Amino acid sequence: MNSVFPLWDPLCIPIANSSDTFPVRRIYTIGRNYADHAAETGLGGTAGSVPGISLKPSDSLLLDGGVLTYPPATKQLDPEIEMVVAIGRDGENIAPENALDYVYGYAVGFDMIRRDIMRDCIANEHSWDLCKSFAGASPVGGLRRAADIGHPDSGEIRLEVSGEVRQQGDISQLIWKTADIVSRLSQYSAVRAGDIVFTGTPKGPKPVSAGDTLIGRIAGVGELKIHIA
Ligand code: MN
Repeated sequence: MNSVFPLWDPLCIPIANSSDTFPVRRIYTIGRNYADHAAETGLGGTAGSVPGISLKPSDSLLLDGGVLTYPPATKQLDPEIEMVVAIGRDGENIAPENALDYVYGYAVGFDMIRRDIMRDCIANEHSWDLCKSFAGASPVGGLRRAADIGHPDSGEIRLEVSGEVRQQGDISQLIWKTADIVSRLSQYSAVRAGDIVFTGTPKGPKPVSAGDTLIGRIAGVGELKIHIA
């Protein structure tokens, strides 16, 4: 049988210090996973509460050095700097103590949010998918292998926008740790090699505009730079 239009290639994240790439299957995001950010959203969520889990389209991946065109129908575009976990093996019902075996590596990501659309969706009790679904909504930097860097559980996470520090925290503040997140996702549906997970953002996301340059760093994980056009 023939495909009725040409098959497309999956988008891939380059692996740092390697010519290999990581094909992306699904993009998950975890919400309100730092207590200081959970508090500022006014939506609740504290240590021990259930994390919000949402999905972004896989073709919203944007690579390091990329240009994000300011999305349509948007009045407020907020970047959220987050550690990204890349899944390297299929699994389901994974126990937390085994969950890190399923992690291929880590990267710096920006979970880009159309905040005005998110607010409207929440106010109207609609799903908020639209706020996370647009071209370039998921910038991700070069992937570092867990085999090389281990499983980072502390280190500064920091976002600068056009030279100004906007967000600053430490990944040790994550309420749901990497192992908890992978285990929890796998209880709802099988995780698959190629899935990536944005693990949540510390306090302080603020809007960006066309012309801004965003630089994110997580100590021990890497860096990500994009430009807004
Ligand atoms: Mn987020």
